[in-house]
Amino acid sequence: METHLADFIRGTADGDEAESILRRCVHCGFCTATCPTYQLLGDELDGPRGRIYLIKDVLEGAPATPSVRLHLDRCLTCRNCETTCPSGVQYGRLVDIGRKVVEERATEPRPLLDRLKRTALREGLTRRWLFDPAMRIGKTVRPILPAALATKVPPTSRSTKRYVRVERPRKMLMLAGCVQPAMAPQINEATMRVLDAVGVETVVARRAGCCGAIRHHLNDHDGALDDARRNIDAWWPAIEAGAESIVMNASGCGAMIREYGHLLRNDPVYAEKATRVAALTRDLSEVLLPFSDFLVSKLQAPTARRVAWHPPCTLQHAQQIRGPVEALLTAAGVDVKLCAESHLCCGSAGTYSVLQPELATALRDRKLTQLAATRPEAIVSANIGCITHLQSGTGTPVLHWVELIADALPGEGVRLGLFPGEVRQAARVRKGKGPKPLPDPPRPS
Ligand code: SF4
Ligand code: SF4
Repeated sequence: METHLADFIRGTADGDEAESILRRCVHCGFCTATCPTYQLLGDELDGPRGRIYLIKDVLEGAPATPSVRLHLDRCLTCRNCETTCPSGVQYGRLVDIGRKVVEERATEPRPLLDRLKRTALREGLTRRWLFDPAMRIGKTVRPILPAALATKVPPTSRSTKRYVRVERPRKMLMLAGCVQPAMAPQINEATMRVLDAVGVETVVARRAGCCGAIRHHLNDHDGALDDARRNIDAWWPAIEAGAESIVMNASGCGAMIREYGHLLRNDPVYAEKATRVAALTRDLSEVLLPFSDFLVSKLQAPTARRVAWHPPCTLQHAQQIRGPVEALLTAAGVDVKLCAESHLCCGSAGTYSVLQPELATALRDRKLTQLAATRPEAIVSANIGCITHLQSGTGTPVLHWVELIADALPGEGVRLGLFPGEVRQAARVRKGKGPKPLPDPPRPS
C-alpha cells in the first residue's frame, strides 16, 4: 500500500512504524472474512481492511471524525485478522497507533458519558485497593443485584483447596493480576497448586500489579508504560535470583507482557530489562506441557469429563499458542471439544464488553450457541475476561482450565464441582431466557 504521511507524523517513531506496517498490506481482504465485527455488521469499515484505510487516511491528514473513532472503537483488537493475513500485517500495532492519533486529533471530543465510563474503567479496574473491596461487596449482595449487574460479578467459588507454600529449588514468578484475584481467586490458587505438584515454587511479587493492558487499550499509553516499568522493577530481584519464567494464567496479560520489549524499546533505562521480561514470559499451558506425564500420574478423576475449550484471542491470535491446553486436558482424561468458529472472539475483549455491550452480547451469544453444540459438562478458557463474559450468558459452568487439573489433585477441601453458584443463571436459561441462536452472518464479498 502506497503511503504519503502528513507532516505531523512523518519521521516520528509511530509514523515510521505505521508506515512500514501499512506498506505490507496488499488490500487483498482475506482478513475481512475472519473479522468478528465484519461478520456481525457487514460493513467494510467494520473490518480490518476498512479500518486500515481509515487509519492511513488520518495519518495522511484526513480529519479524525467521530465516525472514524466509532469504527476503531468497534474493533475488538482480537487480532484474528493478523492470523489470517498472508502478508504479515501487524494490525494490532497499527490500530494502537491509529487510536492514539485519532484521539489526539479528534475533530470532536468524545461524549461526556463515554469519557466518564473510560475513566472509571481505567482508574477503577487497575487499582486493587479500589476494585477488591468493590468486588467483595458485589459478591455479598449478588443475590439482590439487578440481572445486568449480577452477571458482571462472578459467584464465589466452592473450592476450598488451598495452596500451601513449600520451598522448591525451581522458582517461577506469577503475575497475580489486577481484577482476577478479586473476581476469581481460585484461579491463582489452582495455578500455584498445580505448579507445586510438578516441583515449582510460585513467587508473587507484591509490588507487581496490572500488566498495563487496560490502560493501553483505553489509549492511556503513558500509564500503560508506567505499569510495565513498575512490574519490571517488582520482578527484577527474583529474575536476578534465578526465577526461570514469568507464568501467565490470564492470556490477556501474557499478550501484553510479551509486548514489553517493543513498547519500551526507546527507553534507555528499561529497554533491555523489558526485552528480558518479555522473553521470560510463558503461558501456564506452555510451562506445564513438558511436565504432562508426571502431572497426570498424580491426578484423580477430573471433575468434568467432557468440556468445550474456548481459546481466547489473546492466546491463539496475539500469542499464537494453540494446542498445549488441549494436550494437557486430554492427557488428564478429559474429552476436549473445540466448537465451530473457535477462531472467533467471544466479545469480552478487555473492557469492550462494557463499552460496546450490544456487539459484545451478540458475539457472546453466538459463541455460547457454538459451544453448547458440543454438549459440554463445562466450558473452559484461559482468560478471566472471557470466563466472566461467557458465564454471564449461560448456566453451564465456565472455568479456567487449570481449575480442572487442580481439582483432580489429591488434597483436603471441597472439590470445585460443577455449577458453582450459577443457580440463577441456570434458571434463566431453563426458562428460555438464555442465549438464542443468531441468524447466519452475511457472506463477505
Ligand atoms: S489480509 Fe493482510 S494484506 Fe490482505 S487486506 Fe488484510 S491486512 Fe491487508
Ligand atoms: S482485531 Fe479483530 S475485530 Fe479488529 S479488525 Fe482485526 S479481526 Fe476485526
